[in-house]
Amino acid sequence: MTDIKKSRQESAEGKSKGRLKNAVWKVKNAFFGALFPRSVTCDVCGEEMSVKSRYCLCGECMSKLEVTGDHVCLACGVPMSDEADYCMRCQNVKSEFVRNRSPLVYDGTARDIIHRLKFGGKKYLAETLGAFMSDEYLKSRMECDIAVYVPMTEAEEKKRGFNQSELLAREVGARLNIPVLPALVKTRETATQKLLSGKERAQNLKGAFACVFEEVKGRRILLIDDVFTTGATASACAAALLKGGARDVSVLTAAVTKLKIPVESEDGTPAI
Ligand SMILES: [Zn+2]
Ligand SMILES: [Zn+2]
Repeated sequence: MTDIKKSRQESAEGKSKGRLKNAVWKVKNAFFGALFPRSVTCDVCGEEMSVKSRYCLCGECMSKLEVTGDHVCLACGVPMSDEADYCMRCQNVKSEFVRNRSPLVYDGTARDIIHRLKFGGKKYLAETLGAFMSDEYLKSRMECDIAVYVPMTEAEEKKRGFNQSELLAREVGARLNIPVLPALVKTRETATQKLLSGKERAQNLKGAFACVFEEVKGRRILLIDDVFTTGATASACAAALLKGGARDVSVLTAAVTKLKIPVESEDGTPAI
């Protein structure tokens, strides 16, 4: 019997039979899927894996990821090599947020994953990063009531097609059972932060965010972004949330940039 005849007969026999067939198909798939699992591949290198890992990464790619570890700056979460509580970046800076925590260092494989998510449109990578971030939240004993993501302007989001911080927030929120609210809006376009110094970044973002949800009042907010660099974006967003009545703001980002420590050359002048 041809497929066309088959489908005609099926519709003649009524929709209920079709639904029954679907159900049988699903059960069959689940059964054979369990018996003969489909091959799963690493989200970074595409290597086939025999077992699906929690982070969708193969062993080799996992080993290449630089994690922040246990001894980090109390404020920004960057790994520390000495016993100090605060890194050079945070020693003399007053931030609007309580602290930032990131599971990964923004380098190598982590940078590659974030770039592919942001610029390559590989939205599924938010799942991998979200798994790392929710683990970090639990490890750092963060306790927040609402998750809010760093917003883009409408034009910026239209250009990219999505907001990567929102995707990360949705992943983290679903894993930790924390509601995600679009509480912030970006009120104006800002110059690209990349080439600006810390002070210039803060100036560039001043007043660029506004809180539009009353639900933040008295709540502990988990602010989600992809990368923590100088903290200027996080601080500007936290200021808007505090202005909107939030109790406090903690920041969770997928990766934190390493500190640029000036290296002195032989004649004593900074080499970097
Ligand atoms: Zn891999
Ligand atoms: Zn720091």
